[in-house]
Amino acid sequence: MQVYVNWLIAHAVRQPDKYATLPEAEVSTWLSDRWQRCAWQQACGIVQSWYSNEREIPPVLRNLCIQANANVVVIEPSKSPAFDFWLRISTLEAGKPVRVPILLYGRAKDTLNEFPKLCTGVTLNKRAGQWYATLVVERRGPKPKAATVVGADIGMANIVSTSTGGRYGQISPQLRQRVARSTAKRRRKQKLNACLKRKELPPVDLCDHRAEAFARNEIGRALNQMVDDLPAGAAVALERLTVKDMRFKSRQMSRVLRAAQLGYVRDKLKFKLDERSIRYRSVQPAYSSQQCSRCGFTFSMNRRSQDKFVCLWCGYTANADENAAANIAERFSDEELNSLPFREVETALALRFMRRLPDARSASAGLDTSPGQPGGESYKRSISPVQTPV
Ligand SMILES: [Zn+2]
Repeated sequence: MQVYVNWLIAHAVRQPDKYATLPEAEVSTWLSDRWQRCAWQQACGIVQSWYSNEREIPPVLRNLCIQANANVVVIEPSKSPAFDFWLRISTLEAGKPVRVPILLYGRAKDTLNEFPKLCTGVTLNKRAGQWYATLVVERRGPKPKAATVVGADIGMANIVSTSTGGRYGQISPQLRQRVARSTAKRRRKQKLNACLKRKELPPVDLCDHRAEAFARNEIGRALNQMVDDLPAGAAVALERLTVKDMRFKSRQMSRVLRAAQLGYVRDKLKFKLDERSIRYRSVQPAYSSQQCSRCGFTFSMNRRSQDKFVCLWCGYTANADENAAANIAERFSDEELNSLPFREVETALALRFMRRLPDARSASAGLDTSPGQPGGESYKRSISPVQTPV
């Protein structure tokens, strides 16, 4: 897998194809075709997310982690009360699988009773010399069609802000204080570790587990409130955030929530929405904090402070997070923006804005009433691919 990862990066394959012909001439291996394909598919996934997160240091696979689909690992029911399942794991020798009996801990059993459908894939991880299997459950039943869309902006002045004006999880003075204390503590530990390293002693754990637990508790409470406040039948538009975006946001918030915690907020929110069968979609987040949700004018100076948005074109004034959340909600069904790479969004937004200017509209008369575009409200949403040079 590592060799394939290196090969894909060396050849700058940004969108690797899982089903492509394998570079057999360049990568020599004793693996069977089937196992080569497995390794290749995993490598494709790793390289794709490496590129989309715009990382610079090539991935090095250190720990054994097998994301096994049903070709490799199968869960079989146990007929003995002594254990819960068999894991049938394929090996390099065809027809000679290994069967491992597994016991689940109590909470896992409760979860299985609640969500009886097991997904076919199993993840196997090796930590501290022990193998762990992660089973995933699935809830049956389609989610209802949504009547309205609520946009959610994660973590600027609040943990979450919605386009309906809700602000959840104010970064409280207590949390701020805790973060300051925790940062000071981390610095002391880093100094200590430098000393320990000189004396060739093992380092201490840098993580402040209590501060982390405090933050997670605040996050959980904020998200519960947010989900409770959603209007019935609403869907939620979330930002599609990469590790890089989260680092940027984290810096903007002066590290009250670390990038990892912002990722936690997003994952936890998705989990809570899934639990309640609420539809959601991750949308293109580019420039959502600089775009005016009323007229569409996008400009960095529109956002003059952390919490205030003032459109320099139309004068629309709003809470900055609420404005961003409104843009995110608007992008829920904006197929054009959602398919564009980040760097092309600014141009697309500028062109849309210009088309909406009164003189531009008269110049392209008839656009409003062209077939398939009923004009008025939907005009803004259903803009055809742009040809106008600017
Ligand atoms: Zn405006």
